[in-house]
Amino acid sequence: MSAVVLSRDFDPALLQHHARELATAGRFLHGQGWVPATSGNFSARLSADYAAITASGRHKGRLTEQDIMVVDRAGRALDSARRPSAETLLHTTLYCRYPEVGAVLHTHSVNATLLSRRCGSELRLEGYELLKAFRGVETHDTCVIVPVFDNDQDIPRLAAQVEHYLDGHDEVPGYLIRGHGLYTWGRDVTEALRHLEAFEFLFQCELHQARG
Ligand SMILES: [Zn+2]
Repeated sequence: MSAVVLSRDFDPALLQHHARELATAGRFLHGQGWVPATSGNFSARLSADYAAITASGRHKGRLTEQDIMVVDRAGRALDSARRPSAETLLHTTLYCRYPEVGAVLHTHSVNATLLSRRCGSELRLEGYELLKAFRGVETHDTCVIVPVFDNDQDIPRLAAQVEHYLDGHDEVPGYLIRGHGLYTWGRDVTEALRHLEAFEFLFQCELHQARG
């Protein structure tokens, strides 16, 4: 007789797999200078109800499996020994909204920080070949609009603002928080990393262009 798997269950082997993936991603992203001084946070979906996420305050270039913990859909930790990232709710709202999203990455790069301070409420990325790195984009001849939200230490309020925007713009591959950083996501960690690298390249192009 096969075991009944409840939707709230997750496979411990998947947690271990994601913990390794996120630690590897952390080394790469820290090497790029995109997650300085313990900033940023990463997560990967474990099931419909749970996600693995970086614990608060960990150095992202030196993550171990012990730095990855489990939270539920509301962002509550399963274990009381560690605190999840302060911005956990910004991850879990994406998992709740998009069943196909398997990973969320948040970084604090110089370019995302600078560009978000120069933009209004949206950044328009237009005409770049690299836009094709985003899921569903097949030509450079398009415009990807990235919303820019004002920074807010009240994460539930910020999450509600993001939700409200996404209600009308489901196709967005990421968003900026002003003076703070980038959130992007994908079907898995690999796709989220591709989106992140594409954003960083495009942010750099925009900044160079603005400087003339
Ligand atoms: Zn942050």
